[in-house]
Amino acid sequence: MSLETRKLAVVRRLDDGTLIARCPVCASIGKDRKGEHLVVYPDGRFGCVVFPGDAGWLHRKAIWEAVGDRKRKRPPLVLKFTVKPKE
Ligand SMILES: [Zn+2]
Repeated sequence: MSLETRKLAVVRRLDDGTLIARCPVCASIGKDRKGEHLVVYPDGRFGCVVFPGDAGWLHRKAIWEAVGDRKRKRPPLVLKFTVKPKE
């Protein structure tokens, strides 16, 4: 897992192992009160549904700096990650 999941406010775990959690970056500015912005896939990819795609890179970097697994040297796949925009 790419993030320290015990640092996350995990709200639910889907059948395939995907975690839905509070985004620490959104939470730091008073957003994501329901805890549904951060998606962490079983393969370690993660993203915030409010900041998907290329435009969300800095947001994911901030997530990584907040709750990333520091035992890994660098955020895996974080540059490529996209999530579906929130509907
Ligand atoms: Zn966020």
